[in-house]
Amino acid sequence: MTCDDYRSQLHDYFHGSLEPGPQAEVDRHAAECVPCGELMRLAREISCRDFVGFLNEYIDGELAPERRAIFERHLAICSDCTAYLDSYRKTMSLSVAALRDAAPVPAKIPEGLLRAILAARK
Ligand SMILES: [Zn+2]
Ligand SMILES: [Zn+2]
Repeated sequence: MTCDDYRSQLHDYFHGSLEPGPQAEVDRHAAECVPCGELMRLAREISCRDFVGFLNEYIDGELAPERRAIFERHLAICSDCTAYLDSYRKTMSLSVAALRDAAPVPAKIPEGLLRAILAARK
């Protein structure tokens, strides 16, 4: 497995949708390849829910550099959060209701996120 293969499989790996064979190959590559092992370790430090919870701090650049790096690692492997971030940025200028419809992850929009949207609409 190459590093590119590894990265392309990682999203499925974290979402538990890989077959046992490819999953074992991902594990093996992570064990053998230092940067890829590090990528997996960092990606595990944050869940999709954490990502969404801190999204407005991320966009506003208020996150500490270490945490920001973790976010970026997560984005690199998680197409769900990448899509969510895109839709968030697109709907910032639209209504809060539109965001609620477009957002796949949170059941309820966090306070800070609402405030950020309202501030952006002024
Ligand atoms: Zn690698
Ligand atoms: Zn995610």
